[in-house]
Amino acid sequence: MEISRTIGEARELISQFKSSGQTIALVPTMGALHKGHLSLIRQAKKRADHVIVSIFVNPEQFGPNEDFDTYPRELEDDLEKCRLEGVSLVFAPDRDAVYDEEKFLSINIDSLNQHMCGGSRPGFFEGVLLIVNKLFNIIQPDVAFFGQKDIQQFQIISIMVREFNHNIELVMAPVERANDGLALSSRNSYLSVDERTTAPGLYRALQFIEKQVKGGVHTPKLLIEHQKSELEAKGFRIDYLDMFSFKTLQPVYTLQENKKYIIAGAVWLGKTRLIDNILIEL
Ligand code: AMP
Repeated sequence: MEISRTIGEARELISQFKSSGQTIALVPTMGALHKGHLSLIRQAKKRADHVIVSIFVNPEQFGPNEDFDTYPRELEDDLEKCRLEGVSLVFAPDRDAVYDEEKFLSINIDSLNQHMCGGSRPGFFEGVLLIVNKLFNIIQPDVAFFGQKDIQQFQIISIMVREFNHNIELVMAPVERANDGLALSSRNSYLSVDERTTAPGLYRALQFIEKQVKGGVHTPKLLIEHQKSELEAKGFRIDYLDMFSFKTLQPVYTLQENKKYIIAGAVWLGKTRLIDNILIEL
């Protein structure tokens, strides 16, 4: 397995892969790799000759009061995991290798980041698009893998690919969960033992809403409000919990047949922000 710390090194290797006609799958990550990331890598391996994993805690997608400084960084462990999965190249640049001292451009997003995580984390998706756009240009993969856990991210990146004409196929991989249903996340390491026991409550609330909606409730507002109160009673602080159109990422109040919806929530448990979602088609 090769490890590149600079764009130049990565490009040299990638051009070798490409000159012999081999295909490339990219799995972008911020490291602290868990089974969710590994499932993306395994799916990527089936789709291309080479899997490239990027590991970069992207400062541009963290707000001033967010956890950029404390975000887990476990590069040696991550490299070992990638090696065991048969990854061809890990691209793990420093900040300076990716960003210039001054930044003159940014990518604007219209209505797609008004709600969900976009609504509560100003600048977050602009930062995500900036780094993903860079990674797509640096690596020029044939296919890139993202997790459904960050479903708004997947949708916004899909639209960037379309509108900016990146010639890259995107794949959305299902959410990997712990046995008790908690979506795996690098941030789960922040949870205390008690919080970890409470944490699967978010997924259970989403599942409850899913069951009711599939059972015929097509105006889920009251149902959702009730689930919010239940979560608050368990010690969660609600950032958002709602149903959104998969296509527009806008909240929906009356559901229609033959449409895709996201039941999505973000909650705080102590200092840890957890997100999760279920995608349903009526
Ligand atoms: P991150 O390192 O958190 O930025 O995540 C890197 C990629 O892994 C993103 O596409 C995430 O959506 C995906 N991912 C994170 N957690 C999971 C999970 N539990 N199951 C599947 N994919 C995940």
